[in-house]
Amino acid sequence: MISYEKIVSLDHLRPWSFSKVQKAKKCQYEFFFRYVEKIEPLTRADFLILGSGVHYVLENALNTVFKDGRPIRKELLSDFALQFKEMEPEADVSLISSFFPNIVKFVNGQLRRVEESSLVASEIELAVDDSFNPVSYSSDSVFMRGKLDFIFSKGNTLYIVDHKTSKSWEFNNKIKTQLRWYALLASVKYPQFERFALEVHNVRYGTVNRVIFNLRELSLFRRNLIPKIFSVEEELAGKSFGELQPNPSDYNCRWCEYRHVCPLAERENGE
Ligand code: SF4
Repeated sequence: MISYEKIVSLDHLRPWSFSKVQKAKKCQYEFFFRYVEKIEPLTRADFLILGSGVHYVLENALNTVFKDGRPIRKELLSDFALQFKEMEPEADVSLISSFFPNIVKFVNGQLRRVEESSLVASEIELAVDDSFNPVSYSSDSVFMRGKLDFIFSKGNTLYIVDHKTSKSWEFNNKIKTQLRWYALLASVKYPQFERFALEVHNVRYGTVNRVIFNLRELSLFRRNLIPKIFSVEEELAGKSFGELQPNPSDYNCRWCEYRHVCPLAERENGE
């Protein structure tokens, strides 16, 4: 039973992540179902399960390589994929294993890259409050947060690697904005670095795209970003479902995980 009278509050909006802001801009109905009513999605898309499985295998492979200090064997990846299958029964292990050759190549390649690094870590959780002070990821005062897949340092540069499994080759502005979020959060947590090299590792194709930000660029980005987030908060806070602006379109609704509860989707389906 959906509480359409429920009022969107700041607690529903914060903490912000890059994808949460995207969702708020995409369709306010979908945002309400996901973050205010916290309704379970009807199904989890296959590509999301695949992406989580590949991330799980990669993270474990990286940790194993750095712990052992030697290249990983492909056979070990099957164990990680099966562990993931136990947690996520709908995972397709054979599909995940089609990524193994690129995972082995990437992971063993990182072993050489981090030889001189003073900082190496994977799955790092970063969060800041609304004054941009670092806070713990689950703290009540979190304003913005994000998770980094893998980082390592080289001199005054922090390398931040984001793994993707998408079919798209695109390295577009949306991806670059997401990378700026990560770099901004990392610059608060690791103020000792002057440059932040963001790498998108597409595990499907085994490619890497890189963009480098310096502190001046990140400071400018932060100055523009904060008012944008505040304006999203103004658009949503204090409103009930009936006051929100939906954004139905072929594309938005086809991939929406809340079609089963959205009144607009029902009308489109003629139900
Ligand atoms: S089905 Fe369409 S209108 Fe309804 S919540 Fe999803 S995206 Fe928005």
